[in-house]
Amino acid sequence: MEELNPFEIARKQLDDCAKILNLSDDVREILRNPMRELHVSIPVRMDDGSTKVFKGFRVQYNDAKGPMKGGIRFHPEETIDTVRALAAWMTWKCSLLDLPLGGGKGGVICNPKELSENELERLSRGYIDKIWQFIGPNKDVPAPDVYTTPQMMAWMMDEFSKLTGSNEFGCITGKPVCIGGSCGRDDATARGGIYTIREAAKELGIDLSKATVAIQGYGNAGCNAAFLCRDLFGSKVVAISDSKGGIYNKDGLDLELACRVKSDTRTVTNSPRDTTQKISNEELVELDVDILITAALENVITKENAPNVKAKIIAELANGPTTPEADEILYKNGVHVIPDFLCNAGGVTVSYFEMVQNIDRYCWDVEDVYKRLDDRMTQAYHTVLNASKTYNLNMRQAAYVVAVNRVVEAMQLRGWIKMN
Ligand code: NAD
Repeated sequence: MEELNPFEIARKQLDDCAKILNLSDDVREILRNPMRELHVSIPVRMDDGSTKVFKGFRVQYNDAKGPMKGGIRFHPEETIDTVRALAAWMTWKCSLLDLPLGGGKGGVICNPKELSENELERLSRGYIDKIWQFIGPNKDVPAPDVYTTPQMMAWMMDEFSKLTGSNEFGCITGKPVCIGGSCGRDDATARGGIYTIREAAKELGIDLSKATVAIQGYGNAGCNAAFLCRDLFGSKVVAISDSKGGIYNKDGLDLELACRVKSDTRTVTNSPRDTTQKISNEELVELDVDILITAALENVITKENAPNVKAKIIAELANGPTTPEADEILYKNGVHVIPDFLCNAGGVTVSYFEMVQNIDRYCWDVEDVYKRLDDRMTQAYHTVLNASKTYNLNMRQAAYVVAVNRVVEAMQLRGWIKMN
């Protein structure tokens, strides 16, 4: 049976990298485990007067290279192993982008769609009440992720500021711009991914103005990626989806209309049938397109469907969309995978810019943010591509080698480990 537990997958990827880098067992053991985990119970007063207790987590994986950084998910199927995997991937991601940060991640088991605005505010504040001693600008800086928003980040920052007695804008990123957020953070994840797609297309000789694109997940990352593919490259976005299913039009979808339908009815599948055809998420992955962007959840490309993937480039905006067995199949079939912790690193990169601006109490304009993001993403992409060519590795293995090597070097310089 193929392993689908995200943390076991993250560990397997790390083990493979440890072999390539010839790391000792004790170094590998440090890297296989989070440094600290918080498991909290959050009582929330509901609108009907009852009190409900929600379970939350914060995993602080490794801070050898600096304060930990990582988003918070509000999701009904959140598990500690998902949060551990995401925290590990954040560690490698920050390292790969050469940010002075470590990796962490948080999650709360809840269904935000079933909570009122007031309940979401109390839950956001309640989560911070339980973890505030362990986070902060020099310790661990959370951010938004699946089903969490800039408004929630604002409530969380406010709660942390009240508890510490000072305006701590730098304790959290992804805030609205007028209270210390960065210009360009809203579409940073998608935009960063788009820059790596541009570089990959150059490498493979694909003309993006003629390319077709399918996108799984039409949320923050996926929706922004759709518009950027169309508006920056002139590519045709032929399929998009969300948790209820997808829509397809071989001549290109009306993205504005899909946004309106999604915001009115919570799913793109209610789009008018005269211009779109309904497809499943499974069908979307196997569509005959040039670029497949995964922007939903984990384990959507497995050994079952990997042989049927026809895209030339897979851009992993989502974390952990491809299983290790699927990876091998895709590599053999010549599919160019831009691995998650490279492809979706635009979000944390602009979050890092937000931290820097908060420290300076200064605001960069949006063009400045885009330029700095482009430079970092382009450099990271080519570092990975070169490592993949030099050592004959697939793009994910190459990204691991670069990222893990830097974390090991930091641990060594700090005296945490001795290398032979
Ligand atoms: P989001 O909540 O804005 O959107 C998620 C989308 O995925 C929604 O449209 C939802 O309907 C859809 N979805 C949920 N379950 C699905 C399923 N089973 N099949 C198909 N679609 C499904 O979240 P987001 O911020 O866009 O994050 C999406 C992915 O990108 C996640 O893996 C996240 O970890 C990753 N990511 C996001 C950021 C960021 O800054 N937003 C940064 C790095 C990585």
